[in-house]
Amino acid sequence: MNNKIIIIGAGISGATLAERYANKGYKVVIIEKRHHIGGNCYDFINSDGLLVPLYGPHLFHTNDEGVWKYVNRFSEWVPYEHRVLSFVDRRYVPVPVNIKTVNMLFNLNLDEKGMVQWLEENTEKIANPQNSEESALARVGKVLYQKMFKNYTKKQWDLYPNELAPEVMNRIPVRTNFDDRYFTDKYQALPKDGYTKLFKNLLNHKNIEIRLNTDYFDIKDSLGTYAKLFYTGQIDRFFDYKFSNIEKLQYRSIRFEFETLNQEYYQPTTTVNYPNDYDFTRITEHKRATGQIHPKTTIIREYSSWEGEPYYPVPNPKNQKLYEEYRKETEKLKDIYFVGRLANYKYFNMDQAFRNALDLFDMIERK
Ligand code: UDP
Repeated sequence: MNNKIIIIGAGISGATLAERYANKGYKVVIIEKRHHIGGNCYDFINSDGLLVPLYGPHLFHTNDEGVWKYVNRFSEWVPYEHRVLSFVDRRYVPVPVNIKTVNMLFNLNLDEKGMVQWLEENTEKIANPQNSEESALARVGKVLYQKMFKNYTKKQWDLYPNELAPEVMNRIPVRTNFDDRYFTDKYQALPKDGYTKLFKNLLNHKNIEIRLNTDYFDIKDSLGTYAKLFYTGQIDRFFDYKFSNIEKLQYRSIRFEFETLNQEYYQPTTTVNYPNDYDFTRITEHKRATGQIHPKTTIIREYSSWEGEPYYPVPNPKNQKLYEEYRKETEKLKDIYFVGRLANYKYFNMDQAFRNALDLFDMIERK
């Protein structure tokens, strides 16, 4: 029996499958194009001694007991509840929208009952939102939509919310209380020594070989036979873009601009969103999340772009249709599995990525 497992990509999906198969006695080879493991979670200590995420902030949050237990096997976790402010009308207001957001922007003094009423009066009655604009109008109403969501989304996606599926905006809840946390999941934490360390621990197994700086498509003919192959890259690239003659499957990228400042802190919270000002979408001061004590601080400005590494699948009907053509091709293949955000063309959170990889392993191995 062939006991070789090939995994393309060392992000959450690839590393989780590698760990599972290595522990089952398989020999695992991971092929990774980049110079590091961890996918977009990769972080490192910069020349000033500050821990920074190379691909922007990754805030772990989950209600999934199984995933939480799993990730705790590979790192200690430090509780961290993310808070985001949005710079609107020259002041910082909480996102997701809560009572304070409305009180600040409209100079009101609502309590919980007043907030429910305010939403009742200001939101639009759209039973079944068909796009992200409708979903925002139904949940926060026109004025907040225009102040906080419309232009941010245009900057982030180069599309207006009415050109994006409702799921995009549905990621942001609306609160009728004063809870200003970005997430409300039971477990919210960061790995104590960073994500890269977590991935090192995940992949620390004698049965796992990692080939960095290696593009699978350059070496695939020399890989020999294998029991199974897991592909976590872009699905269209796997099929040599064969359905993309006219339209391409779109991926949104981000250019991260790092700046280290000679001051202890820069901004009032870890992330500040800029819906209406500047070319960047947001600034993250990671030190506020890690709690690192340091006389300097590194900030990361995010500029969305069509050029560069693919980060976000772009959920709209055109892309979904094209993706579906590629997906059908995957069904014709034997012992090859497509897993993760880029291969499934889906906007997964980190915990969902762990969950999908764990479930896929269980599903295959239970057979
Ligand atoms: N969004 C927005 N204004 C904000 C925050 C988010 O319009 O202040 C929209 C935007 O379209 C964004 C989406 O909501 O892409 C999801 O936001 P989230 O913070 O989940 O995005 P991520 O952190 O995954 O980039």
